[in-house]
Amino acid sequence: MEETKFCKFCGEKIPSDAVICTKCGRQVENLGASGRESIVINNVANSAASAASSSTAQSGRGKKTVSKWVSFALCLTLGWLGAHKFYEGKSGLGILYALTMGLFGIGWFVDLFVILGKPDPYEV
Ligand SMILES: [Zn+2]
Repeated sequence: MEETKFCKFCGEKIPSDAVICTKCGRQVENLGASGRESIVINNVANSAASAASSSTAQSGRGKKTVSKWVSFALCLTLGWLGAHKFYEGKSGLGILYALTMGLFGIGWFVDLFVILGKPDPYEV
């Protein structure tokens, strides 16, 4: 059974999904409402996308270049305290290094060679 409704103008029985009455030809459903709805949905998606891209831009601004030799000197002398990690702006890792003596010396030792292999200055 096809679903039907009655035209509010002429009272004719018409399919429930009809927008124009099949008998009198008058518009029985508002086309504009559903059109506006989809535009709103698009705006939400656009603003979410632009918010995501702006947060990406913010993390992009957080990027900085540091001097290879300052970092190397810090790593060599105070690497077990994570000084070079703090210098690179990675304070979370710096605290971890300070608490674990540079990851039990291993992270400290590896970082010396990692920093040596980097360009001067390098991006963090
Ligand atoms: Zn009608």
